[in-house]
Amino acid sequence: MTEKNYLINEWFYSLQGEGIRSGTPNLFLRFSACNLSCSKETEGFDCDTEFVSGKKWTLDEIVKNLKDCSPDVNWIILTGGEPTLQLDDEIIDRLHREGYKLAIETNGTKAVSPKIDWITVSPKTAEHAVQQKTANEVKYVRSFGMGIPKTSIEAQHYLISPAFEGDTVPQKNIDWCIQLVKENPSWRLSLQTHKLLRIR
Ligand code: SF4
Repeated sequence: MTEKNYLINEWFYSLQGEGIRSGTPNLFLRFSACNLSCSKETEGFDCDTEFVSGKKWTLDEIVKNLKDCSPDVNWIILTGGEPTLQLDDEIIDRLHREGYKLAIETNGTKAVSPKIDWITVSPKTAEHAVQQKTANEVKYVRSFGMGIPKTSIEAQHYLISPAFEGDTVPQKNIDWCIQLVKENPSWRLSLQTHKLLRIR
């Protein structure tokens, strides 16, 4: 029988650059493929993530690749693309058995397993298309002129993140998001500091 495999775009060891867990060291496991194609016209920003390429890896190979990156860190961020398209109990249970805690960054269009230890939902669709209705943190990208989200997600933390254009974040987007947070104090600002610091 062929061993099960997952289409992985890349993995690497870095610091989480955004959200409540910002600054913490994590292994990043980027799954290939996404079910959306975000653009400035519809979502207010262009997707800047390459998720088309990838290679198939078995679970044993994935674990080895991650441990080769760092034998010490115990958090993995499952991201993409859209990780829920491939994530299943088999990989979740195996990574837990290996001693990892699992965080996920998802667009929320598919429900996330309750076994995941930290859920970040970053919706890119209309709220009625969001299936994952609970999260540790919910994060919306906002450009100048976009309103505060009317979220349908119950979360511990509500974040808005100024949209980047290429490698930079326009000052008008930052100023706009700061104003939104000041007017809506249950929200807070989240910056993509990994882009500002030019780290992965
Ligand atoms: S959901 Fe994320 S990865 Fe998918 S197209 Fe939108 S920004 Fe890109």
